[in-house]
Amino acid sequence: MIFKVFQASEIATLFELLSVNRIVGPIEKGRDVNDSPLYDFDVVYDFKDLALDYGQTIHSAKNYFLPYRENLCTFTFEDDAWEKDVDFGAYEAHVFFGLHPCDINALNKLDKVLMGNNYPNPFYGAKRSNMFIVGHSCTPTPSCFCHSMGSDSALSGFDLFLTLMEDEYFAEIQSSRAYHILENMETREATHRDHLLFRKASSRKRSLFKCEVDTSDLTKILDMEFESEVWRKWGGKCLSCGTCANVCPTCYCYGVEEEVNMDFSHASKVKQLYSCNLLDFAQVSGGHNFRPESSTRLKYRYYHKHRGFVEAYEESLCVGCGRCGNACLAGITVPEVIASVRGGEK
Ligand code: SF4
Ligand code: SF4
Repeated sequence: MIFKVFQASEIATLFELLSVNRIVGPIEKGRDVNDSPLYDFDVVYDFKDLALDYGQTIHSAKNYFLPYRENLCTFTFEDDAWEKDVDFGAYEAHVFFGLHPCDINALNKLDKVLMGNNYPNPFYGAKRSNMFIVGHSCTPTPSCFCHSMGSDSALSGFDLFLTLMEDEYFAEIQSSRAYHILENMETREATHRDHLLFRKASSRKRSLFKCEVDTSDLTKILDMEFESEVWRKWGGKCLSCGTCANVCPTCYCYGVEEEVNMDFSHASKVKQLYSCNLLDFAQVSGGHNFRPESSTRLKYRYYHKHRGFVEAYEESLCVGCGRCGNACLAGITVPEVIASVRGGEK
């Protein structure tokens, strides 16, 4: 890894250099009932709109490469001939400016599932390979527990990662593209003092976490508590609305619908992101539903994140961003659910 340092004010120059591409970053979208700012990722046209001091966005950045609804292919029929058209939807390069470590780690996890297996997803891969990522340091919000999930620091999955230290940025450079872009700015080599300041910024961040999840032996405890009443307690609160999966940066479950128009001249196959908490998620042809109770659906979401994925990839599928708990109208949060499972609550 190559480290450089530049003046904090130079970040506007970096934005300008990258603005020949479409830039997506955190923007203030409004205010909540306490008059605190609400942020989300959106296309940024002006550097002044980029809110790099954001706490957490409502949605993750996943929808730019895993859209909620995506046309997989279209068929056109004419007489005895037919044509199939496939559009991977990677129209232009995206720069993601200001992703926090948890969201970069979420992307790395999605890559393992959607690009690293025997059947890579070309729709995801086309968009994913067409992006440039500028990571940015963060200050933990009260609901962040990324440090518990090992996602508070990004080691890979970005081109450039910027840590604000006093009035300068410490830049971690991980791609030749990032290196060449920085050649157009005023930078200097990182010194020993900068390394010390970087460590100080890391320990300050660690000291600010207010929320945590004890993950020690969690997969074993989940195996022991599969029949626990805890699942009925939390399932009883769950509204089966699917909001948690909607905002989660690592939820990728989907369904596929086939649509044919009335005169049989066109047909299409459409992919729709789905949530395992929705009532009909496990319903199959003939109408049987393998998980008719909200408690079993909620339980399986937790087992996928904290048990099944760990078994397959030796890491959790949850990055501890806290979005699902913030968005849940029933007040269901990962730290509380895991604590009650660990506590053997009945
Ligand atoms: S846990 Fe909360 S957000 Fe998720 S489906 Fe249930 S009520 Fe909706
Ligand atoms: S399960 Fe919740 S806390 Fe974990 S990554 Fe998804 S939204 Fe974030």
